Formats: sequence, C-alpha cells, structure tokens
Amino acid sequence: MKTGNINVQTENIFPIIKKFLYSDHEIFLRELVSNAVDATQKLKTLKTVGELKTDLSKLRVEVILDKKAETITIRDNGIGMTESELDKYINQIAFSGAEEFVNKYKDVDAKNSIIGHFGLGFYSSFMVSKEVEIITKSQKPNSKAVKWTCDGSPSFNMETTTKKTKGTDVILHIADDSKEFLEESRLSGILNKYCKFLPVSIKFGTKTEKIDDPKGKKDKDGNIEKVDKVVDNIINNPNPAWKKRPSNLKEKHYKEFYRELYPMEFSEPLFNIHLNVDFPFNLTGILYFPKLKNNLEVQKNKINLYSNQVFITDNVENIVPEFLTLLHGVIDSPDIPLNVSRSYLQADGNVKKISSHITKKVADKLSNMFKKDRNDFESKWDDVRVFIEYGMLTEEKFFDKASDFALYKNTASSYYTLSEFLDKIKETQKNKDNKTIILYTHDKNEQHSYVNAATNKGYEVLELSGPLVSHLISKLESTNTDIQFVRVDGDSIDKLIDKGDDAVSKLDEKQQKKVQEMIQSEVDKSIYTVQTQNMSSDDLPILITQSEFMRRMKEQQQLSGGGMQMFGDMPESYNVIVNTNHDLVSKIISEKNKKKRVALIKQIFDLALLSHGMLKGEKLTSFVERSVSLIK
Ligand code: ADP
Repeated sequence: MKTGNINVQTENIFPIIKKFLYSDHEIFLRELVSNAVDATQKLKTLKTVGELKTDLSKLRVEVILDKKAETITIRDNGIGMTESELDKYINQIAFSGAEEFVNKYKDVDAKNSIIGHFGLGFYSSFMVSKEVEIITKSQKPNSKAVKWTCDGSPSFNMETTTKKTKGTDVILHIADDSKEFLEESRLSGILNKYCKFLPVSIKFGTKTEKIDDPKGKKDKDGNIEKVDKVVDNIINNPNPAWKKRPSNLKEKHYKEFYRELYPMEFSEPLFNIHLNVDFPFNLTGILYFPKLKNNLEVQKNKINLYSNQVFITDNVENIVPEFLTLLHGVIDSPDIPLNVSRSYLQADGNVKKISSHITKKVADKLSNMFKKDRNDFESKWDDVRVFIEYGMLTEEKFFDKASDFALYKNTASSYYTLSEFLDKIKETQKNKDNKTIILYTHDKNEQHSYVNAATNKGYEVLELSGPLVSHLISKLESTNTDIQFVRVDGDSIDKLIDKGDDAVSKLDEKQQKKVQEMIQSEVDKSIYTVQTQNMSSDDLPILITQSEFMRRMKEQQQLSGGGMQMFGDMPESYNVIVNTNHDLVSKIISEKNKKKRVALIKQIFDLALLSHGMLKGEKLTSFVERSVSLIK
C-alpha cells in the first residue's frame, strides 16, 4: 500500500478542473473512452512489432452504468499498467498535462474558443466524480493488479489488488452535482456524439434484436418465426468510410455513410470528395455536396471535425475556408492543433496548408467532373451554383480555377462557360464603345416581354439569379473589363446594346416634350421619371426600366445587411420610356378630349407596369375594370 501526494502545487487544481469547462463536462467520457481505445491500440502496436502473440480479435471497450452504486465504469482489455507505470503515467505525467492545461487556460475566459478542449485527459474525470478508482493489470507477464483511488483531493492511495483479466477499469463515483450522467439516455447521447467512429468496438449495455428462431419454428405461413435475442449494444462503427481506400468504395457506400452521419437529413447529397493526404500533413475525410437552397446562413456547420476518429467539433470555422462550410461531411486530421484558441488557428501553418489543400481538391473535383461528363455536370449545376459562386467571391484561388467549370445558363436552358458564351456573342452583342454586353434576367417569366425584345433582335440572354449574382457580375466585370452585364429591364434593348445608329423620330422635339409632360403628370413623380426615345414602331409604346447601377447597389446592400448607409433610404425609382415612334403615342398627342386622353395614358402605362410585374392590388383591379369598360 502506498499513499502519496500527487504534487505539492496541486492544492488548486481540482477546483479549477471542476469549474473550468463548465458547459462541457460531458467530455470526460470522450477522454476516458479515448484513453481506453488507445490502450487497446497499443496492444495492436505491440503485436505488429512482434512483442505480443495473443489473439487481438476480442479487443473492446465497455462503458458500464450502475445507477444503484452511482458509478460509471470505463473498462478496456488493453495494455494495462504496472504499479510503476501507474505512478508515472497517472500521478506524474497525466497530472502534469492537466496542470499545464489549467495554467495555460485559467485566464482564458472564452471556453468556447478552445477547439475541442483537448488536453485534460484522465483528470477530466474529476469534473463529474467525487472519487475515482483505477483497477488495472498490465499485459506484461506476471504483472500484479493495482488499485488506485483518489477522492479529488491531492492525495491518493495505491495498493495491489486482484483482477482476473488484463486491462483497465476506471470507476467514477459520480458527484452529487453531476447525477445527470447517471441517465442512460444522456450517456448514450454523449457516446453517439463523440465516440461514434472510434476504431475499437465500444459496448454500452445490451439491446434486443429480432432473429430467426434458432429451433427453426415456423409460423402458419411456413416462414421461420422471429424471436427476441439480447445482444451487446455496440455504439460505434469502428471502420468508417473515410478511413477506407476510395478505390474500395462505390457510390452506394458513400450514400450509406451519409445516412450514418446525418440520420435526420432527408435529401441525398449530389456527389462527394474523398480526401486522403499523408504528406506534408495527415488528413482524411469525405466531403459531400448538398443540394443548396438560396438561404446560405442556415446551411452552415454540417462538417464534423475528427482527430484520429474522435469527434472534436462541428464548428470548422477558421479551419476550412468560409464557402466550404456549406459542404457536409467529415474531416479527420491529427495535425490540426486542438488545444488552442480559434484566433490562433488562423495563423497556424498547418491549418493554412490544410485549408488551401481542401480548396484545391474541391476545385479539382469539380473540374474533373466537368471534363468527364459535361451533361451530368450540367444537370447538377443549378444545385451547386450558389456554392461555387460563393467560393468564387471569397477565395481568389478558387475563382481562378472556377473559370474552367463555372456555367452560365441562357434562357433556352443551354449552359456555357463564360469564355464559350463570349465567343458566341462577340460578333452580335458589342456596343459602339466595343464592349461586349451580356444581357441577363433574374426571372425569365416575370421579365418575359423584355427577354422577348432581346431575343427578337437575335441576342442571347442569361438567367442569373440568387443572392450572390450582383456581387458575382461586379467581380467578373472587374476582372474582365471588356464585358458589361445589364439586366434586360435596365433600358430599352436598343439602349442596352447601343450600336450608335439612332432611329429617326416620328415626332418633332416640341411634340416629344409635350407627350413627355402629358404622361409625367399622370404618374407618381417620386417614383417614375418619364423620358422619350426613338424606338421601333414594333416595340412597346411605354417601357418601365430600372437603372442597372441603382438596382445592383440596392441588392448588394440588402445582402450585406444594410452596411451602406448612403443608399439606406433610397426609394425604388424607375424610368418610364415613351416610344416616340409608336402609333398609340401619336394618338395620345392628337387626342383632344382630356378624359379620353388620360384614360389612354393610364391604360398604356398600366400595360407597361403589367409587363414589368409591377401591377398589383388595387391598381390591378382598376386596370381590369377599365379594360372591361373599354371593350364595352
Ligand atoms: P493522454 O491520454 O493525453 O496521454 P491522460 O491524462 O489521459 O493523458 O493519460 C495519461 C497516461 O495514462 C496515458 O498516456 C496512458 O499512458 C495512461 N493511461 C490512461 N488511461 C489508460 C488506460 N485505460 N489504460 C492504460 N493506460 C492508460
């Protein structure tokens, strides 16, 4: 029997350990189960180097809850410890680790800023226990079993004891303030969170399964009857897909693993990337591309970070580039430092390398898919577009690579890369200043008349929509100064692609001014500015447009949450373009009866609003009523 003091400076350490990770007491189980798993892995190592002959097929860890005794036991049949090892590893080493940790972080307030809260190891058991026992027997021949006890004060007891099997039991006598951990559901929740993919089978209690009756008893239909059988409840999959060789996995295995990761997720992933690097850092993992919706915020934090199959966190911010947090899946790297704060991580060389490696892999995967099967890639495009746009906007390297595979869809649903599209329109869509004008619509149904006006002229129109479009086209314009994007409702089509050949006007200047005033006086001046333009007589009599510049400003401001105060109170404003060559416009001027003239203006103006999708509510009703009475 030996008693001793763990260390002279220990006076303060237990209270600090107990309090320190207040909200995260549950990690004690992860730490102890990880230690137990390590102990079994060490036997495997011994076997590989030939120092051990025994059969290792039965290696396992067991978590045993005894509600009556108010204990939790973590049992392994691993390497075990001799008395001197226990003294060294638990009394000295484990303790010094815990002490170092506490000294380092006792002044750090932000407990959440420390990734994974690693480093407490064995001593984290004191966060939830009033007393801890270790009963261990080393695998070394002729070892005596040892029992170690400590009640959380700096003194411990160590004595020889009897234990049949090799390995270690760590018995936690749960403290009164930690009784929640004596609930089975709480424990299985923690195990499921942290230990789901640990590399050795972990048993937690038993469960009943339906199996074929071993006696072969049949029911009335001649089928073998099912009977209940009590089996071990193994809570983990020791061999998760990301640890396997990609060449051994098929599409269906990746899908199955996705289910395993996200049992509550309904939709299937579109495709995946299997990461497998061992130099200059160690990284494995599988990333899945989900079908993305337009709301980006709600879809983050689905990637789980592991270190040697131990779950660390589902917040991978600062470890992977922001846009990649939209992906789902697993990253496992022992090379990501875990007991450091998040701000420190950003500066870490390994983390930077890992981050840019993942970005590169993702870009390569997309590029390969595009080259290998373009049709398939196109079919997935609409679902991954937002993700790729996000990456293009936030990661310069990704932007460069994405020019190979980023697609743009025209209103006839054909897909082009930007350079293919520019080739297609370079002859037709240059304006008088030699800029290539890319026309786009955010909704080809809503803007049908505008799209129609453009395609009637033989122009191509792209469909661009979503929260990032105005940012994306600004970025494309800044890297490619020969092109300019304009939405189809930005102006009349002849002004959007201004070739410099002005049509002649049927109306002289005086008449133009007159009709402009007549119309302006019938519409809300604070919203609509009336202009005249010499368009073709086939074009509409009145067109509602909105300046590309103003609209983009507003959209970008909305996305960035109102940062640009300048445009904060900017009201919606539109241009009303009057086609001086249209017969109805001539008719307005020649109409002497004011009542009839106003009715005509209102009708034509409402038609313009209607084709801009702006005629709603009361205005729509009075338009319909007026139209009916006109037909009568
Ligand atoms: P760490 O696991 O980070 O090394 P711990 O404080 O958790 O630190 O444990 C200290 C040491 O005690 C371990 O490195 C190991 O040598 C020994 N140890 C802990 N748990 C066990 C166990 N279940 N079986 C064998 N050795 C163990």
